[in-house]
Amino acid sequence: MHVIDAPRLLDFAGLVAALAQLPELRLRQGVPLRSLSRWQIGGPARVVAEPLSVAATAQALRLIKAHGAPLLVIGDGSNLLFDDEGFDGVVLHIGRAMSSMRIEGRRVVAQAGIWTPIFARRVGCAGLSGAEHAVGIPGTLGGLVVMNGGSLRKGIGENLVSVTCLDHDGETRVLSHDECGFAYRTSVLQTRELIVVEAEFEFAPGEAREIRREMIKIMAARRKKFPLRLPNCGSVFLSNPAMYDTVGPPGKAIEEAGLRGTRIGDAQIAPEHGNFIVNLGAARSADVLALIGLVRKAVYERTRFWLDCEVRHVSSNGHLTPAHIPAEAL
Ligand SMILES: Cc1cc2nc3c(=O)[nH]c(=O)nc-3n(C[C@H](O)[C@H](O)[C@H](O)COP(=O)(O)OP(=O)(O)OC[C@H]3O[C@@H](n4cnc5c(N)ncnc54)[C@H](O)[C@@H]3O)c2cc1C
Repeated sequence: MHVIDAPRLLDFAGLVAALAQLPELRLRQGVPLRSLSRWQIGGPARVVAEPLSVAATAQALRLIKAHGAPLLVIGDGSNLLFDDEGFDGVVLHIGRAMSSMRIEGRRVVAQAGIWTPIFARRVGCAGLSGAEHAVGIPGTLGGLVVMNGGSLRKGIGENLVSVTCLDHDGETRVLSHDECGFAYRTSVLQTRELIVVEAEFEFAPGEAREIRREMIKIMAARRKKFPLRLPNCGSVFLSNPAMYDTVGPPGKAIEEAGLRGTRIGDAQIAPEHGNFIVNLGAARSADVLALIGLVRKAVYERTRFWLDCEVRHVSSNGHLTPAHIPAEAL
């Protein structure tokens, strides 16, 4: 969670003026969050700041803290449900402007804003194996590390050696692999107020042509399985090992509950895959949250398992929680 709880902000104009002085920071005001969301959902953000360097990120963080502004850190917004109300604070967008990468032997160091599929392909082209599973995952490497994202039962944390972060004072903190607390689609980075700026990995030597072939296979399988046409956020619900053994993955449980195609407003359980919710055009966060509630209840009644969300909801005050936890429960 990346929120500084603060009394109502008095001097937003002062903060914006100070941020505007930073040459390596792109600043926009009144930005519709739907434009930063793969779901294309979300009201306006007061300010969106995209740093072009680690130094600018640190400077921006110091200013944001000094002004007591609420802060939300995002990558590509591919695992986030922004609220219809928007967010009255500063969104720090770690994106393509921070995407350098270097490879030395089996070690790879990359900045947080690099696009994950590009990262995975470059690792493979260098004859290194271990990032193939991430080749089809949209989003930034920073978001992938925070979520311990992956596919085919793998998570990026398996190959991570260390991660370089900034705290809200702009100070550098380096966490080792063990300090990151990686587990299935989670890490301590989701709860500690740290901004990932760079990560170091170690991969196994492999044959570049073989790795490329494997990546093509993975992409083809994903294209067959997942809805491609309409905006979505990937898998909404997490797989639960106990449930997997008896009932199967969330998509199967949702489909067996007869929910494929179920719709609230313009949010719909994808007809192609039960674990995806697509935006038919004008879906609101309230529609998605209601559909999540409906699915959980229906699946619980059939299986006695509660499905929890991988997708994270950003409430209007900037609190980030798995989307099955209602903001009012905080
Ligand atoms: C079509 C589709 C398919 C998908 N398939 C998969 C899949 O196979 N496997 C999988 O694991 N995921 C999948 N996802 C989910 C998503 O792509 C991943 O979780 C992705 O890695 C998130 O990266 P992001 O940059 O979009 O992060 P965001 O969605 O922007 O943020 C996710 C979380 O990370 C935090 N965060 C982001 N960047 C930083 C940073 N630099 N420092 C600190 N915190 C940060 C945010 O605060 C938030 O808590 C899919 C999504 C879509 C749309």
